[in-house]
Amino acid sequence: MSLEILIVADPEEAEVGEVEVRLLARPRPEDDPIEDSRLFAAGDREEIARCVAEWLDRRRDALGDPERRTCRRCGRIGRAGEEGDSRRPFVCGDCRRRARRTGPTPTGRGDGVEARFLGTANAFGAGGRRHASTFLRARGARFGVLLDAGPGCAAALRADGLSPEDVAVVILSHFHGDHFGGVTFLELDGLRTGRAEPLLVIAPPGARERLDSLRECLYPGFRTPFPEHIVEALPGETTSLPEPAGGGSATPFPADHQPRRWAFGWTVRLGGRRIVYSGDSTLTERILDESDGADLLVHECTSLTPLPGHTSYRDLLAAAPRIRARRTLLVHTGEAVTALPDPEFDLAHDGLRVVV
Ligand SMILES: [Zn+2]
Ligand SMILES: [Zn+2]
Repeated sequence: MSLEILIVADPEEAEVGEVEVRLLARPRPEDDPIEDSRLFAAGDREEIARCVAEWLDRRRDALGDPERRTCRRCGRIGRAGEEGDSRRPFVCGDCRRRARRTGPTPTGRGDGVEARFLGTANAFGAGGRRHASTFLRARGARFGVLLDAGPGCAAALRADGLSPEDVAVVILSHFHGDHFGGVTFLELDGLRTGRAEPLLVIAPPGARERLDSLRECLYPGFRTPFPEHIVEALPGETTSLPEPAGGGSATPFPADHQPRRWAFGWTVRLGGRRIVYSGDSTLTERILDESDGADLLVHECTSLTPLPGHTSYRDLLAAAPRIRARRTLLVHTGEAVTALPDPEFDLAHDGLRVVV
């Protein structure tokens, strides 16, 4: 915990002989500070020291023990340095091991899947394209599955002759704005349509809080007007997809994107097909394994040359002989990538439709 004590003397109040003591405590570097301030008679060191000690004591709960971690799954208190400690929110090793022992993975009925690329740009909207979002629909299914929901995904659905009502499942890779900032607009659409169909959101730990605060920030007081089920999944934990979306399942695996927060890639089994999505990540051995024999690999390619937490075109070229998906399409592409005259890989673009 870091603690700052500031003693401020206002020259205009000099005659009054008062100083202000400001206390700023930060339990962990990434937390918001806890602030307090009080006026004291100048020079009354003893009183100031006594009050600061009292403040700290009174706020012991809020400040917490920086060594303590509460598992958001089982509520058990973990300790700093325990497995999984570097991720926020913390999930203890037992819960993570339990998550890996999940049952069979439903594939859904087997007539194929249509993938519509709604947003294929990086976080900067390169080339005027939209942020990350891909709509998958099993053939014959009433509803579809959205892989990430970047800002603008509701408009992108409309531009493609669909609407948020066609989405029964949203799968999120991580909580960067370009990947999840559009969820509130999918929720908001229910006001207009009177949607009754539930929405299933499958996402990394922390999803509930992140989606609640996004909604509250964008439309204070707004509540999702239809049933919304949020599954905070752990790597290896399979969630079955609803029958109206064609059945099937979604299983996350760890992405290498941001060391202190959760970030996933996903294997989606739908319409008898296996689709692997990298989310934002470097090109990992795990993605190569997951996508071996997959019907479609949707992989990010942010830049031409290596960039921390992302995959570059050069990385993909180096790994090309080991990419064994039946079809690979690159997304999250920056301008330098889309400007390549004759790329070795297929690049997805907004509005692209493929059937696998
Ligand atoms: Zn991104
Ligand atoms: Zn990201």
